Amino acid sequence: MALKITRPQGTEDVTPKSINKWYTIEKVARDTAESFGFHEIRVPTFESTDLFLRSVGETTDVVQKEMYTVKAKETEFTLRPEGTAGTIRALLQNGMLNDALPQKVFYILSCFRHERPQAGRLREFHQFGLEMAGSQSPAADAEVISLAKTLLDRLGLKNIALNINSIGCPKCRSEYHKALRSYFAAREDELCDTCKTRLEKNPMRILDCKSPVCGDIGKDAPVILDYLCDDCSSHFETLKKYLTGLSIEYTVNPRIVRGLDYYTKTVFEFVTTDIGAQGTVCGGGRYDGLIEQLGGNPTPALGFGMGIERLLLTMESQGCEFLEQKTCDLYIAPMDADGTQKALTLVQSVRSEGYQAELDLMNRGIKAQMKYANKIGAKFVLVLGENELESGTANLKFMKTGEQFPVHLDERFITEFGDLAIQFLFDDILDDLKEEM
Ligand code: ATP
Ligand code: MG
Repeated sequence: MALKITRPQGTEDVTPKSINKWYTIEKVARDTAESFGFHEIRVPTFESTDLFLRSVGETTDVVQKEMYTVKAKETEFTLRPEGTAGTIRALLQNGMLNDALPQKVFYILSCFRHERPQAGRLREFHQFGLEMAGSQSPAADAEVISLAKTLLDRLGLKNIALNINSIGCPKCRSEYHKALRSYFAAREDELCDTCKTRLEKNPMRILDCKSPVCGDIGKDAPVILDYLCDDCSSHFETLKKYLTGLSIEYTVNPRIVRGLDYYTKTVFEFVTTDIGAQGTVCGGGRYDGLIEQLGGNPTPALGFGMGIERLLLTMESQGCEFLEQKTCDLYIAPMDADGTQKALTLVQSVRSEGYQAELDLMNRGIKAQMKYANKIGAKFVLVLGENELESGTANLKFMKTGEQFPVHLDERFITEFGDLAIQFLFDDILDDLKEEM
Protein backbone atom coordinates (compact mmCIF):
# COMPACT_ATOMS: atom_id res chain seq x y z
CA MET A 1 0.00 0.00 0.00
CA ALA A 2 1.19 3.48 -0.78
CA LEU A 3 2.38 5.58 2.14
CA LYS A 4 -0.40 7.79 3.40
CA ILE A 5 0.77 11.38 3.49
CA THR A 6 -0.88 13.69 5.96
CA ARG A 7 -0.72 17.46 6.33
CA PRO A 8 2.07 18.88 8.50
CA GLN A 9 1.35 19.40 12.19
CA GLY A 10 -0.13 22.77 12.96
CA THR A 11 -1.66 23.30 9.52
CA GLU A 12 -5.31 23.06 8.50
CA ASP A 13 -7.32 22.29 5.40
CA VAL A 14 -10.35 24.42 4.68
CA THR A 15 -12.76 22.24 2.74
CA PRO A 16 -15.75 23.51 0.71
CA LYS A 17 -17.99 22.58 3.65
CA SER A 18 -16.67 25.45 5.72
CA ILE A 19 -15.35 27.84 3.08
CA ASN A 20 -18.39 30.10 3.54
CA LYS A 21 -17.11 30.91 7.04
CA TRP A 22 -13.85 32.18 5.55
CA TYR A 23 -15.71 34.09 2.84
CA THR A 24 -17.78 35.75 5.56
CA ILE A 25 -14.77 36.99 7.51
CA GLU A 26 -12.87 38.00 4.37
CA LYS A 27 -15.82 39.87 2.92
CA VAL A 28 -16.72 41.73 6.09
CA ALA A 29 -13.03 42.52 6.66
CA ARG A 30 -12.56 43.88 3.12
CA ASP A 31 -15.78 45.91 3.24
CA THR A 32 -14.96 47.36 6.63
CA ALA A 33 -11.38 48.27 5.68
CA GLU A 34 -12.59 49.88 2.46
CA SER A 35 -15.23 51.89 4.31
CA PHE A 36 -12.35 53.41 6.31
CA GLY A 37 -10.43 54.18 3.10
CA PHE A 38 -7.90 51.35 3.28
CA HIS A 39 -6.85 49.54 0.09
CA GLU A 40 -5.62 45.99 -0.33
CA ILE A 41 -1.95 45.18 -0.77
CA ARG A 42 -0.43 41.76 -1.59
CA VAL A 43 3.14 40.94 -0.69
CA PRO A 44 5.34 37.85 -1.09
CA THR A 45 5.02 34.85 1.19
CA PHE A 46 8.75 34.86 1.83
CA GLU A 47 11.19 37.72 2.35
CA SER A 48 14.87 38.02 3.12
CA THR A 49 15.53 36.87 6.69
CA ASP A 50 17.19 40.22 7.46
CA LEU A 51 13.89 42.04 7.05
CA PHE A 52 12.43 40.20 10.05
CA LEU A 53 15.61 40.40 12.13
CA ARG A 54 15.62 44.17 11.68
CA SER A 55 11.92 44.74 12.27
CA VAL A 56 10.41 42.05 14.49
CA GLY A 57 13.57 42.14 16.63
CA GLU A 58 16.28 39.69 17.61
CA THR A 59 15.13 39.25 21.20
CA THR A 60 11.53 38.32 20.39
CA ASP A 61 10.04 34.82 20.56
CA VAL A 62 9.20 35.05 16.88
CA VAL A 63 12.81 35.57 15.81
CA GLN A 64 14.45 33.45 18.50
CA LYS A 65 12.23 30.39 18.23
CA GLU A 66 9.50 30.56 15.64
CA MET A 67 10.81 31.48 12.19
CA TYR A 68 10.74 29.14 9.23
CA THR A 69 13.97 29.96 7.50
CA VAL A 70 14.78 28.13 4.27
CA LYS A 71 17.90 28.00 2.23
CA ALA A 72 17.46 27.72 -1.52
CA LYS A 73 20.57 27.61 -3.65
CA GLU A 74 22.77 29.58 -1.25
CA THR A 75 20.15 32.29 -0.66
CA GLU A 76 18.32 32.43 2.64
CA PHE A 77 14.67 33.39 3.02
CA THR A 78 12.12 33.34 5.80
CA LEU A 79 8.43 32.55 5.47
CA ARG A 80 6.69 35.64 6.83
CA PRO A 81 5.81 35.24 10.53
CA GLU A 82 3.64 38.38 10.36
CA GLY A 83 2.47 40.90 7.79
CA THR A 84 3.85 44.25 8.89
CA ALA A 85 7.50 43.89 7.88
CA GLY A 86 6.76 42.81 4.30
CA THR A 87 4.08 45.46 3.92
CA ILE A 88 6.34 48.28 5.07
CA ARG A 89 9.10 46.93 2.82
CA ALA A 90 6.62 47.09 -0.07
CA LEU A 91 5.49 50.64 0.78
CA LEU A 92 9.14 51.70 0.69
CA GLN A 93 10.13 49.72 -2.38
CA ASN A 94 7.16 51.01 -4.40
CA GLY A 95 7.75 54.62 -3.40
CA MET A 96 4.30 54.78 -1.81
CA LEU A 97 5.54 56.85 1.12
CA ASN A 98 6.43 59.66 -1.30
CA ASP A 99 2.75 59.82 -2.30
CA ALA A 100 -0.01 61.58 -0.41
CA LEU A 101 0.00 60.54 3.25
CA PRO A 102 -1.32 58.77 5.14
CA GLN A 103 -0.93 55.56 3.17
CA LYS A 104 -3.56 53.08 4.31
CA VAL A 105 -3.31 49.44 3.25
CA PHE A 106 -4.83 46.16 4.39
CA TYR A 107 -4.05 42.51 3.71
CA ILE A 108 -5.34 38.99 4.17
CA LEU A 109 -2.44 36.55 4.27
CA SER A 110 -0.96 33.41 5.79
CA CYS A 111 1.78 33.57 8.43
CA PHE A 112 4.20 30.89 9.55
CA ARG A 113 5.53 30.36 13.06
CA HIS A 114 7.11 27.27 14.52
CA GLU A 115 5.09 27.06 17.72
CA ARG A 116 3.57 24.22 19.70
CA PRO A 117 0.29 23.55 17.91
CA GLN A 118 -2.88 23.76 20.02
CA ALA A 119 -6.39 25.19 19.72
CA GLY A 120 -6.02 28.69 18.28
CA ARG A 121 -2.27 28.30 17.80
CA LEU A 122 -1.12 26.99 14.44
CA ARG A 123 2.11 26.86 12.50
CA GLU A 124 0.43 28.22 9.40
CA PHE A 125 -2.30 30.68 10.33
CA HIS A 126 -4.03 33.58 8.63
CA GLN A 127 -4.25 37.23 9.43
CA PHE A 128 -6.38 40.10 8.38
CA GLY A 129 -4.19 43.09 9.04
CA LEU A 130 -3.60 46.66 8.10
CA GLU A 131 -1.02 49.42 8.28
CA MET A 132 -1.34 53.19 8.21
CA ALA A 133 1.80 55.24 7.56
CA GLY A 134 2.36 58.97 7.87
CA SER A 135 0.21 60.17 10.74
CA GLN A 136 1.40 60.79 14.26
CA SER A 137 -2.00 62.00 15.42
CA PRO A 138 -3.78 60.04 18.16
CA ALA A 139 -6.80 60.28 15.83
CA ALA A 140 -5.03 57.73 13.61
CA ASP A 141 -4.75 55.37 16.59
CA ALA A 142 -8.44 55.94 17.29
CA GLU A 143 -9.35 55.19 13.66
CA VAL A 144 -7.34 51.96 13.58
CA ILE A 145 -8.81 50.74 16.87
CA SER A 146 -12.26 51.81 15.75
CA LEU A 147 -11.85 49.86 12.50
CA ALA A 148 -10.96 46.69 14.42
CA LYS A 149 -13.90 47.20 16.74
CA THR A 150 -16.29 47.88 13.84
CA LEU A 151 -15.18 44.68 12.14
CA LEU A 152 -15.67 42.60 15.29
CA ASP A 153 -19.13 44.14 15.71
CA ARG A 154 -20.08 43.52 12.07
CA LEU A 155 -19.08 39.87 12.45
CA GLY A 156 -21.56 39.70 15.31
CA LEU A 157 -18.94 39.06 18.00
CA LYS A 158 -19.67 39.86 21.62
CA ASN A 159 -17.70 40.06 24.86
CA ILE A 160 -14.41 41.02 23.31
CA ALA A 161 -12.45 43.21 25.67
CA LEU A 162 -10.14 45.93 24.41
CA ASN A 163 -6.95 46.42 26.40
CA ILE A 164 -4.73 49.38 25.66
CA ASN A 165 -1.40 50.60 26.89
CA SER A 166 1.37 52.98 25.89
CA ILE A 167 4.90 51.65 25.84
CA GLY A 168 6.40 55.05 25.15
CA CYS A 169 9.14 56.09 22.79
CA PRO A 170 12.88 55.31 22.93
CA LYS A 171 13.31 58.44 25.06
CA CYS A 172 11.00 57.40 27.92
CA ARG A 173 11.88 53.76 27.50
CA SER A 174 15.55 54.15 28.38
CA GLU A 175 14.60 55.28 31.91
CA TYR A 176 12.08 52.49 32.13
CA HIS A 177 14.60 49.88 30.99
CA LYS A 178 16.91 50.93 33.80
CA ALA A 179 14.14 50.46 36.35
CA LEU A 180 13.17 47.09 34.89
CA ARG A 181 16.75 45.87 34.80
CA SER A 182 17.32 46.62 38.43
CA TYR A 183 13.99 44.99 39.35
CA PHE A 184 14.65 41.76 37.43
CA ALA A 185 18.37 41.64 38.29
CA ALA A 186 17.39 41.02 41.90
CA ARG A 187 15.66 37.79 40.85
CA GLU A 188 17.82 36.90 37.86
CA ASP A 189 18.43 33.31 39.04
CA GLU A 190 14.73 32.48 38.82
CA LEU A 191 14.26 33.76 35.23
CA CYS A 192 14.14 31.31 32.30
CA ASP A 193 17.29 31.06 30.18
CA THR A 194 15.84 33.16 27.35
CA CYS A 195 14.89 35.93 29.76
CA LYS A 196 18.33 35.91 31.35
CA THR A 197 19.72 36.98 27.98
CA ARG A 198 16.90 39.52 27.58
CA LEU A 199 17.79 41.21 30.85
CA GLU A 200 20.67 43.13 29.29
CA LYS A 201 19.44 43.47 25.72
CA ASN A 202 15.72 44.11 26.07
CA PRO A 203 14.25 43.71 29.57
CA MET A 204 10.71 44.64 28.43
CA ARG A 205 10.56 41.34 26.55
CA ILE A 206 10.58 39.54 29.92
CA LEU A 207 7.11 40.96 30.55
CA ASP A 208 5.90 39.13 27.43
CA CYS A 209 7.46 35.77 28.39
CA LYS A 210 5.03 32.86 28.35
CA SER A 211 6.82 30.96 31.15
CA PRO A 212 4.68 31.05 34.31
CA VAL A 213 7.67 31.75 36.57
CA CYS A 214 8.77 34.80 34.58
CA GLY A 215 5.14 35.88 34.34
CA ASP A 216 4.84 35.71 38.12
CA ILE A 217 7.99 37.68 38.73
CA GLY A 218 6.82 40.26 36.18
CA LYS A 219 3.62 40.95 38.10
CA ASP A 220 5.22 43.42 40.49
CA ALA A 221 7.61 44.96 37.98
CA PRO A 222 7.58 48.74 37.45
CA VAL A 223 5.01 49.83 34.85
CA ILE A 224 5.86 51.87 31.75
CA LEU A 225 2.99 54.30 32.26
CA ASP A 226 4.89 55.82 35.19
CA TYR A 227 7.81 56.60 32.89
CA LEU A 228 6.10 58.19 29.86
CA CYS A 229 7.51 61.49 28.60
CA ASP A 230 5.13 64.44 28.14
CA ASP A 231 4.63 63.79 24.45
CA CYS A 232 3.80 60.07 24.89
CA SER A 233 1.64 60.79 27.87
CA SER A 234 -0.48 63.42 26.12
CA HIS A 235 -0.77 61.19 23.03
CA PHE A 236 -2.19 58.44 25.24
CA GLU A 237 -4.56 60.78 27.09
CA THR A 238 -5.95 62.14 23.79
CA LEU A 239 -6.43 58.64 22.41
CA LYS A 240 -8.40 57.63 25.50
CA LYS A 241 -10.58 60.73 25.08
CA TYR A 242 -11.25 59.86 21.43
CA LEU A 243 -12.15 56.26 22.29
CA THR A 244 -14.55 57.44 24.96
CA GLY A 245 -16.09 59.80 22.42
CA LEU A 246 -16.59 56.84 20.08
CA SER A 247 -18.21 54.85 22.91
CA ILE A 248 -15.48 52.23 22.59
CA GLU A 249 -14.96 50.62 25.98
CA TYR A 250 -11.39 49.85 26.96
CA THR A 251 -9.25 48.89 29.91
CA VAL A 252 -5.78 50.32 30.40
CA ASN A 253 -3.56 47.33 30.99
CA PRO A 254 0.02 48.40 31.77
CA ARG A 255 1.19 44.78 31.37
CA ILE A 256 0.68 44.67 27.60
CA VAL A 257 3.98 45.11 25.81
CA ARG A 258 3.20 43.08 22.64
CA GLY A 259 5.39 40.35 21.22
CA LEU A 260 7.25 42.28 18.55
CA ASP A 261 10.01 44.80 19.09
CA TYR A 262 8.92 47.52 16.73
CA TYR A 263 6.09 48.97 18.81
CA THR A 264 6.12 52.51 20.28
CA LYS A 265 3.46 54.47 22.16
CA THR A 266 0.03 52.86 21.71
CA VAL A 267 -0.33 49.08 21.90
CA PHE A 268 -3.64 47.27 22.09
CA GLU A 269 -5.25 43.85 22.11
CA PHE A 270 -8.77 42.57 21.68
CA VAL A 271 -9.24 39.52 23.90
CA THR A 272 -11.99 36.97 24.41
CA THR A 273 -12.33 34.34 27.10
CA ASP A 274 -14.60 32.18 24.91
CA ILE A 275 -11.94 30.11 23.13
CA GLY A 276 -9.58 29.07 25.89
CA ALA A 277 -6.05 30.20 26.50
CA GLN A 278 -5.32 31.63 23.03
CA GLY A 279 -7.86 34.41 23.38
CA THR A 280 -6.10 37.33 21.73
CA VAL A 281 -7.98 37.77 18.47
CA CYS A 282 -6.30 41.03 17.50
CA GLY A 283 -3.05 42.71 18.41
CA GLY A 284 -1.62 45.95 17.20
CA GLY A 285 -0.12 49.29 17.90
CA ARG A 286 2.05 52.14 16.78
CA TYR A 287 5.58 51.65 15.46
CA ASP A 288 6.98 55.10 14.80
CA GLY A 289 10.59 53.97 14.42
CA LEU A 290 10.18 51.03 12.06
CA ILE A 291 10.14 52.76 8.69
CA GLU A 292 13.36 54.63 9.44
CA GLN A 293 14.88 51.41 10.77
CA LEU A 294 14.12 49.78 7.42
CA GLY A 295 15.86 52.55 5.49
CA GLY A 296 13.03 55.02 4.86
CA ASN A 297 12.62 58.62 6.00
CA PRO A 298 11.37 58.86 9.58
CA THR A 299 7.61 58.21 9.22
CA PRO A 300 5.19 57.40 12.03
CA ALA A 301 2.97 54.37 11.42
CA LEU A 302 0.64 51.92 13.10
CA GLY A 303 -1.47 48.87 12.43
CA PHE A 304 -2.86 45.58 13.70
CA GLY A 305 -3.06 41.88 12.90
CA MET A 306 -6.15 39.77 13.51
CA GLY A 307 -5.94 35.99 13.68
CA ILE A 308 -8.61 34.67 11.32
CA GLU A 309 -8.65 31.17 12.87
CA ARG A 310 -9.21 32.68 16.31
CA LEU A 311 -11.99 34.90 14.95
CA LEU A 312 -13.58 31.83 13.46
CA LEU A 313 -13.36 29.82 16.69
CA THR A 314 -14.92 32.71 18.58
CA MET A 315 -17.71 33.16 16.03
CA GLU A 316 -18.48 29.44 16.20
CA SER A 317 -18.49 29.38 19.98
CA GLN A 318 -20.81 32.40 20.06
CA GLY A 319 -23.15 31.03 17.38
CA CYS A 320 -22.54 33.96 15.01
CA GLU A 321 -24.09 33.83 11.56
CA PHE A 322 -22.15 33.15 8.37
CA LEU A 323 -22.98 33.99 4.76
CA GLU A 324 -24.84 31.15 3.06
CA GLN A 325 -23.04 28.86 0.66
CA LYS A 326 -24.21 29.37 -2.94
CA THR A 327 -25.98 26.20 -4.09
CA CYS A 328 -27.26 24.76 -7.35
CA ASP A 329 -30.15 26.65 -8.98
CA LEU A 330 -30.63 24.27 -11.89
CA TYR A 331 -29.65 20.64 -12.30
CA ILE A 332 -30.17 19.01 -15.68
CA ALA A 333 -30.60 15.24 -15.85
CA PRO A 334 -29.99 13.94 -19.39
CA MET A 335 -30.83 10.34 -20.23
CA ASP A 336 -28.43 9.84 -23.13
CA ALA A 337 -25.67 11.46 -25.18
CA ASP A 338 -28.09 13.70 -27.14
CA GLY A 339 -29.60 14.86 -23.89
CA THR A 340 -26.11 15.60 -22.57
CA GLN A 341 -25.35 17.65 -25.66
CA LYS A 342 -28.48 19.72 -25.09
CA ALA A 343 -27.80 20.01 -21.37
CA LEU A 344 -24.28 21.33 -21.99
CA THR A 345 -25.67 24.34 -23.88
CA LEU A 346 -28.65 24.95 -21.58
CA VAL A 347 -26.51 25.15 -18.42
CA GLN A 348 -24.24 27.62 -20.21
CA SER A 349 -27.13 29.97 -21.02
CA VAL A 350 -28.35 29.89 -17.42
CA ARG A 351 -24.87 30.46 -16.00
CA SER A 352 -24.41 33.54 -18.16
CA GLU A 353 -27.34 35.06 -16.25
CA GLY A 354 -25.59 34.47 -12.94
CA TYR A 355 -27.27 31.23 -11.85
CA GLN A 356 -25.44 28.16 -10.63
CA ALA A 357 -26.15 25.26 -12.98
CA GLU A 358 -24.91 21.66 -13.27
CA LEU A 359 -25.59 18.60 -15.35
CA ASP A 360 -24.98 14.88 -14.86
CA LEU A 361 -21.38 13.92 -15.58
CA MET A 362 -21.57 10.38 -14.19
CA ASN A 363 -23.92 8.69 -16.68
CA ARG A 364 -26.23 7.85 -13.82
CA GLY A 365 -29.77 6.54 -14.18
CA ILE A 366 -32.69 8.84 -13.45
CA LYS A 367 -33.19 7.67 -9.85
CA ALA A 368 -29.56 8.15 -8.91
CA GLN A 369 -29.57 11.54 -10.61
CA MET A 370 -32.58 12.72 -8.61
CA LYS A 371 -30.87 11.56 -5.44
CA TYR A 372 -27.75 13.52 -6.38
CA ALA A 373 -29.82 16.61 -7.24
CA ASN A 374 -31.39 16.45 -3.78
CA LYS A 375 -28.03 16.01 -2.15
CA ILE A 376 -26.58 19.13 -3.74
CA GLY A 377 -29.74 21.05 -2.91
CA ALA A 378 -30.71 21.78 -6.54
CA LYS A 379 -33.65 24.18 -6.60
CA PHE A 380 -34.89 23.27 -10.08
CA VAL A 381 -34.39 20.03 -12.01
CA LEU A 382 -34.91 19.45 -15.72
CA VAL A 383 -35.06 15.86 -17.05
CA LEU A 384 -34.04 15.46 -20.72
CA GLY A 385 -35.20 12.13 -22.18
CA GLU A 386 -35.94 11.07 -25.74
CA ASN A 387 -39.50 12.49 -25.67
CA GLU A 388 -38.39 15.86 -24.44
CA LEU A 389 -35.72 16.17 -27.11
CA GLU A 390 -38.17 15.17 -29.79
CA SER A 391 -40.90 17.61 -28.75
CA GLY A 392 -38.45 20.39 -27.86
CA THR A 393 -40.22 20.95 -24.57
CA ALA A 394 -39.68 19.63 -21.05
CA ASN A 395 -40.97 20.08 -17.52
CA LEU A 396 -38.95 22.16 -15.12
CA LYS A 397 -39.49 20.85 -11.61
CA PHE A 398 -39.35 23.10 -8.55
CA MET A 399 -37.96 20.65 -6.03
CA LYS A 400 -39.33 22.21 -2.88
CA THR A 401 -43.00 21.77 -3.87
CA GLY A 402 -42.72 19.28 -6.71
CA GLU A 403 -44.59 21.68 -9.03
CA GLN A 404 -43.75 21.35 -12.73
CA PHE A 405 -43.65 23.99 -15.45
CA PRO A 406 -43.39 23.43 -19.21
CA VAL A 407 -40.40 25.13 -20.84
CA HIS A 408 -38.93 25.26 -24.35
CA LEU A 409 -35.52 23.72 -25.01
CA ASP A 410 -34.42 26.49 -27.37
CA GLU A 411 -33.45 30.14 -27.00
CA ARG A 412 -36.68 30.71 -25.07
CA PHE A 413 -35.38 28.56 -22.22
CA ILE A 414 -33.28 31.22 -20.53
CA THR A 415 -36.17 33.69 -20.29
CA GLU A 416 -38.63 31.05 -19.14
CA PHE A 417 -36.19 29.73 -16.55
CA GLY A 418 -35.32 33.26 -15.43
CA ASP A 419 -38.99 34.18 -14.87
CA LEU A 420 -39.64 31.07 -12.79
CA ALA A 421 -36.40 31.44 -10.86
CA ILE A 422 -37.14 35.05 -9.92
CA GLN A 423 -40.64 34.15 -8.82
CA PHE A 424 -39.86 30.95 -6.91
CA LEU A 425 -36.42 31.61 -5.54
CA PHE A 426 -37.55 34.98 -4.25
CA ASP A 427 -40.64 33.42 -2.61
CA ASP A 428 -38.35 30.83 -1.12
CA ILE A 429 -36.12 33.45 0.49
CA LEU A 430 -39.20 35.20 1.89
CA ASP A 431 -40.49 31.90 3.32
CA ASP A 432 -37.16 31.27 5.02
CA LEU A 433 -37.20 34.76 6.49
CA LYS A 434 -40.74 34.25 7.80
CA GLU A 435 -39.71 30.97 9.41
CA GLU A 436 -36.83 32.67 11.15
CA MET A 437 -39.07 35.45 12.51
P1 ATP B 1 0.22 35.27 21.11
O1 ATP B 1 0.50 36.09 22.32
O2 ATP B 1 -1.11 34.61 21.16
O3 ATP B 1 1.34 34.37 20.75
P2 ATP B 1 1.28 37.23 19.33
O4 ATP B 1 1.52 38.40 20.20
O5 ATP B 1 2.42 36.35 18.99
O6 ATP B 1 0.08 36.34 19.92
P3 ATP B 1 0.84 38.86 16.99
O7 ATP B 1 2.20 38.69 16.49
O8 ATP B 1 0.44 40.15 17.54
O9 ATP B 1 0.52 37.68 18.03
O10 ATP B 1 -0.18 38.42 15.84
C1 ATP B 1 -1.47 39.03 15.71
C2 ATP B 1 -2.59 38.03 15.86
O11 ATP B 1 -2.34 36.87 15.07
C3 ATP B 1 -2.75 37.47 17.25
O12 ATP B 1 -3.50 38.33 18.04
C4 ATP B 1 -3.49 36.18 16.99
O13 ATP B 1 -4.87 36.43 16.81
C5 ATP B 1 -2.89 35.73 15.69
N1 ATP B 1 -1.85 34.71 15.92
C6 ATP B 1 -0.57 34.88 16.31
N2 ATP B 1 0.10 33.72 16.36
C7 ATP B 1 -0.80 32.76 15.98
C8 ATP B 1 -0.72 31.35 15.81
N3 ATP B 1 0.41 30.67 16.02
N4 ATP B 1 -1.84 30.68 15.39
C9 ATP B 1 -2.99 31.36 15.16
N5 ATP B 1 -3.11 32.68 15.30
C10 ATP B 1 -2.04 33.38 15.71
MG1 MG C 1 3.12 34.53 19.72
